[in-house]
Amino acid sequence: MNDAFSNIKPLFRSHVENHSSLAKSTHNERKQKLKRLLKNFMEMENEAIEALALDLKKSPTESVISEILGVKTEADFAIKNLTKWMRAKRVSSPVAVFFTSAWVRPEPKGSVLILSPWNYPILLCLNPLIAAIAAGNTAIIKPSEFTPASSAFLKKLIEKTFTENEVAVVVGDQRVATELLSHPFNHILFTGSPETGKIIMAAAAKHLAGVTLELGGKSPVIVDESANIVETAWKLAFYKFANAGQTCTAPDYILCHEDKKEALVLGLKENFTAFFDGNNTKQSKDYCQIVTHAHFDRVKDYLDDAKKMGASVEIGGHTNREDKFISPTVLSNVSLQSKVMKEEIFGPLMPIVTYKNLGEAIKFIGEREKPLALYLFSNKKKNQKRVLEETSSGALVFNDCVIHHTNPNLPFGGINNSGLGSYHGKYGFDAFSHEKAILKSASWSPFKLMLPPYTKRKHSLVNLIKKLS
Ligand code: NAD
Repeated sequence: MNDAFSNIKPLFRSHVENHSSLAKSTHNERKQKLKRLLKNFMEMENEAIEALALDLKKSPTESVISEILGVKTEADFAIKNLTKWMRAKRVSSPVAVFFTSAWVRPEPKGSVLILSPWNYPILLCLNPLIAAIAAGNTAIIKPSEFTPASSAFLKKLIEKTFTENEVAVVVGDQRVATELLSHPFNHILFTGSPETGKIIMAAAAKHLAGVTLELGGKSPVIVDESANIVETAWKLAFYKFANAGQTCTAPDYILCHEDKKEALVLGLKENFTAFFDGNNTKQSKDYCQIVTHAHFDRVKDYLDDAKKMGASVEIGGHTNREDKFISPTVLSNVSLQSKVMKEEIFGPLMPIVTYKNLGEAIKFIGEREKPLALYLFSNKKKNQKRVLEETSSGALVFNDCVIHHTNPNLPFGGINNSGLGSYHGKYGFDAFSHEKAILKSASWSPFKLMLPPYTKRKHSLVNLIKKLS
């Protein structure tokens, strides 16, 4: 047995032993921990940027926009609001128990496990951690095996900031994740694919561990007849092709009103040319690579399959396996049976499917798995209302995409196939807290007058309480 495996058991035990002291920690103590984490993170910002460049060829600017800022916002927000979140809340008592006082106290769940993917390898480890620490838990983080430089960065940051019996990073692949999952964690926050999510939930069920599942799937975009195409085009081009399309909330495919398709394709083309150095995207220092050759092969297979099934390449379609490069690619005339319309793309391919009336687009979405996010570009209030009321998704964004995750006042999460539960801000604190119900009784209780053996008088008393309740 190698070290990663044999160390897990004692590490887990040391976390369990640390619970009672952490449970007593004050808001000031937890804030100090979050401040130390943020301070060390910001001091090591350049190391984070270097790691992201090595793992994903991410540019420094994109790293700051998509990872550094997100961690900073989440930590600042928790530090600012933690005192309020931790406060026990008094609740009123109904007539039947008028002689009691009651309140709800958030308490740490205990030991938490954070399992993360490779696409935002730093953000998706640290944001769940911020919530776990705010709520007073110990945490073990297992980052993805596909982004080793980011994992090394995280390990260094965490070892500098926390004692090992409070927070630890365990690196390794799914075998290490499986070993971790054999331990009775109190809560597991998993970010990854719906397929792995099912495995995580089954493993959690063995210990009845709580789960927050942040999953993926296809997030559709509707562009209706009233959409402002100039604004729509830059937003879709930017948010789809940032991180080379490897974003859980990236627009997956577009349902476009038939009258707007031509203008949209033109707008997307203009924006790619402007963003990524004309037709020379491969050389662009601002365009990410696909994370691994296996993922390159997967996305390239979607492209080949779509073309074989009759799709037209409107923009891009260039690939280079050696550099794990796939250019921003827009497809039309796509068969609904092709893989690109059935699987989560998670890469820089954007199929456009046209529709004649909004009802068709709503029906199309309703017949598929519930998305993590749904985007509607429309200036018609009536259409916005219809989509709001007639669809179900983790999030619904009007006239923009992806940015909902930057607002810590909003819960971030999916529904069914796209996830279970949510986090960010107070929602993250709640995900890692147990709301303990506390009731304190007065020494005198009217129930003493209603004890068996039951008589007619006692029955009348019970009926009186029922009437007053
Ligand atoms: P993944 O499910 O393959 O892996 C995620 C994590 O689970 C990794 O740490 C991996 O080592 C571990 N893992 C993989 N197989 C496992 C198994 N059989 N048993 C135990 N652990 C296992 O996902 P990925 O490829 O890293 O990430 C891509 C997916 O994540 C996409 O579906 C994407 O939409 C989703 N995602 C969701 C969010 C969100 O916030 N909802 C964010 C980013 C990515």
